[in-house]
Amino acid sequence: MPKPSEGVFYHPMDDDRLNEECAVFGIHGHPDAAAHTALGLHALQHRGQEATGIVAFDGTHFHAHRDLGLVGDIFGSEAVMARLPGHSAIGHNRYATSGATLLRNVQPLFADLAMGGFALAHNGNLTNATKLRRQLVERGAIFQSTSDTEVFIHLIATSSRGSLIERMLDALTQVEGAYSLVAMTADSVIGVRDPLGVRPLVLGRLGDSWLFASETCAFDIIGADFVRDVEPGEMIVLNGGEPQSIRLMTTQPPRFCIFEFIYFARPDSVIAGTSVYEARKAIGRELARENLPPADLVVPVPDSGVPAALGFAEESRLPFDLGIIRNHYVGRTFIEPGQEIRNLGVRLKHNANRSMLKGKRVVLVDDSIVRGTTSRKIVQMVRMSGASEVHMRIASPPITDPCFYGVDTPERSQLMAAQMSVEEIARHLDVDSLAFISMDGLYRAMGLPGRDSQCPAFCDACFTGDYPIRLIDVESRDTACLSVLTELKSA
Ligand code: SF4
Repeated sequence: MPKPSEGVFYHPMDDDRLNEECAVFGIHGHPDAAAHTALGLHALQHRGQEATGIVAFDGTHFHAHRDLGLVGDIFGSEAVMARLPGHSAIGHNRYATSGATLLRNVQPLFADLAMGGFALAHNGNLTNATKLRRQLVERGAIFQSTSDTEVFIHLIATSSRGSLIERMLDALTQVEGAYSLVAMTADSVIGVRDPLGVRPLVLGRLGDSWLFASETCAFDIIGADFVRDVEPGEMIVLNGGEPQSIRLMTTQPPRFCIFEFIYFARPDSVIAGTSVYEARKAIGRELARENLPPADLVVPVPDSGVPAALGFAEESRLPFDLGIIRNHYVGRTFIEPGQEIRNLGVRLKHNANRSMLKGKRVVLVDDSIVRGTTSRKIVQMVRMSGASEVHMRIASPPITDPCFYGVDTPERSQLMAAQMSVEEIARHLDVDSLAFISMDGLYRAMGLPGRDSQCPAFCDACFTGDYPIRLIDVESRDTACLSVLTELKSA
């Protein structure tokens, strides 16, 4: 097991969740651009905790600082912030979805191109990055990192077009995948969203300055106004005056990641006009309508299960109580767990509130089940606290397929719902009953009549295997991914 000092961080208690992607932030035209970027990244910390970076431009020079660790630890230093002067800045929080977490992979990446300095931060995954990288290397490109983001930079550097914007547009016609980009040149900050809009990106305003962020919660922390979502397949250029919008290519119907509403996004964010918190409550209400067990009490698995449990309690008219208390100071710390500590696992992070649970028929509500290891321990804990029955309700359909669009998913063989039926999972978790929200129920909670199988409104591939962007790289990546492709082909 690598130690944090070796450049790889380990999240002992979070390996039973799909891990969030990355966060991007950008601001143009503010005298304190880097400090606002640091605050924005702090609000977006939930999207990536392994590394963070900011590049700022002061009118003459670009200044960069990147490091492994949390935003507060890295950019809480006055000395570091003093080295990031400028009126424009972009920043990134990293959760490694491709490329190991090494300092050379920490974004934003920066390159001195023929037409000037260029910094780039990227959230998502390119599904043809391996193929493009191979072609670029054959043409003489020398890569310094293993991240997909550098592929963009090489495509821009080697493009035959004129301006940087034209070169970016040229590069974007060659990449496939799910991505939100924030880039910075000497005169502009540029935001781009992939044609299907799988990953989020929003536009905001603070006085005369304009901003980009992965989620609206990053605007709230600095008192900026949310203006609108960057549309799927849209590039927005901020260079003084009103933002300029460029449509990249003919857009197919959008397929935003539905898991953002279930778990990834912060509940106080608004995505595509929908409050994430309200969406989660609506999912909980739908879950109660679909499958309500005889029970005395609704208990959320904190923190991510709380809004859905509130919705469930509202619809079922059952009392809601915090039967499990979460220790917020454990979990995303950089501890190196010995086996003994790992075995304690869930008890370090969650503890049962015995007085609430004793003798009760409890409905536990959680957002999802990935490997099932944490769920099993939580059920055990609730039973040992004297609950007479434990019913589990899950605010997502069963996760049966990996994500290739910028989310860290275990291999299919590690996904409990890919290996077991709902009845088998219920037995394994030792619950009296188990139900997941149905796919149609999830879409109903999002305000639609149900899932249109011909033209689904969201990306829901981790529940359906219906991948909206082709998986070119899967064939050329590691053997784990290869086996996934084989399974997909034979499905
Ligand atoms: Fe989101 Fe799942 Fe689609 Fe990945 S596969 S983008 S996690 S809905």
